[in-house]
Amino acid sequence: MKLIILSAPSGAGKSSIIHQLMTQNLNLEFSISACNRAPRTGEIDGKDYYFLSTEAFQNHIKNDAFIEWEEVYENHYYGTLKTELDRISKNGNHVIFDIDIAGGLNLKKIFGDKALALFIMPPSVEELERRLYARATDAPENIAKRVAKAKLEISQAHLFDHVVVNEHLEAAVKQTALLIKDFLNIK
Ligand code: 5GP
Repeated sequence: MKLIILSAPSGAGKSSIIHQLMTQNLNLEFSISACNRAPRTGEIDGKDYYFLSTEAFQNHIKNDAFIEWEEVYENHYYGTLKTELDRISKNGNHVIFDIDIAGGLNLKKIFGDKALALFIMPPSVEELERRLYARATDAPENIAKRVAKAKLEISQAHLFDHVVVNEHLEAAVKQTALLIKDFLNIK
């Protein structure tokens, strides 16, 4: 099993890219993270995330059940359960992660050459902010936090194996798919 890591500032479009990659025959299975935030409209427990209570999340930390976890935003925890990777490995698939920058770099450190770490870059911070407002899933004060965090994250892009600029979704998907095929030796 190989690992494909997609990291990006919030709003850079990585979920859309992952969604499209899943429709191609790349043998990729999405790593379902655990988190303690509430589901957004349309999100399904056990599909988008394992939605846990804060207490349950903290118990998993105590029991060393995560490969990695982060407090991505204040009081908002996200992590990858070890059991999730076992599940995907048993299915015979490669795993694709939607994960924040710190988490992505952690996984790359753990898995080295078995992992391809891709940074999805927004065309600009202004465009990122515009997309977050258009998405309308976050309150304005949360958007401000996400934008502030994005600026720090962008400064770490050079630590990834490749940077893909998501100006136009289709082109970004194409470029990402090519990088993945190359990494997985798919013709
Ligand atoms: P959202 O609340 O918008 O779904 O996700 C917030 C951020 O948490 C995103 O950048 C997402 O990639 C990140 N994230 C999701 N799952 C994980 C995980 O398992 N570990 C870490 N470190 N970050 C995650």
